[in-house]
Amino acid sequence: MEAVPMSEATILVVEDEASISEVVSLYLKRAGYQVLCVSDGQAALQTLDRQLPDLVVLDLMLPRVDGLSVTRWLRDKSDVPIIMLTARREEADRIAGLEMGADDYVVKPFSPQELVSRVRAVLRRSQAPSQPGQEKPLVFEDLTVDPATRLTTVLGNEVELTVKEFDLLWLLASHPRQVFTRDQLLERVWGLSDFIDPSTVTVHVRRLREKIETDSSHPIHIQTVWGVGYKFEP
Ligand code: CA
Repeated sequence: MEAVPMSEATILVVEDEASISEVVSLYLKRAGYQVLCVSDGQAALQTLDRQLPDLVVLDLMLPRVDGLSVTRWLRDKSDVPIIMLTARREEADRIAGLEMGADDYVVKPFSPQELVSRVRAVLRRSQAPSQPGQEKPLVFEDLTVDPATRLTTVLGNEVELTVKEFDLLWLLASHPRQVFTRDQLLERVWGLSDFIDPSTVTVHVRRLREKIETDSSHPIHIQTVWGVGYKFEP
């Protein structure tokens, strides 16, 4: 993935509440991003169909086409980072969104500055320049994980991981048998553990298992250490 200078990153904001959309747009522009705003899901799909931004800030409750449908549609065609805007009561939708591959979320009411920090963190991860030669690919019997290309294969077939799924797999697999607590994983992979629901880790582990394990209900590599967290078994 090519690194794009932060100042040139384009962010699509999909939000039907004009007051939120305006303040989010203002803060993102101040932070140096190009911002595009649309106010319903259908307009979002039309815009995304023409051109993909570097990141999408996506409200879940939207007129015409809801945020989860937009997430599903977008994940079918791209791994462009998605940060969801959700209401506190929308926990089920939030988890569904993470399961579909959204990268992060903030709960309304949120501080615009917090959202900008999330945007910056997610973009930093998705645009992290690869450093070939510094870290070598990890090769296991059925699985390879290459940090330079961010490519993962299972039995020789490439599997598509989101930014967070890859970061989580890399952290676990590069420390075989080391047990990480959910809090440690949140801190190392997500960075802002204070703001993120610990169930985020559970959701990502489940999706990762579905993608890399032969039988995700009897995982071999990503093992649960009951009462503690997770570890990677080579
Ligand atoms: Ca809304």
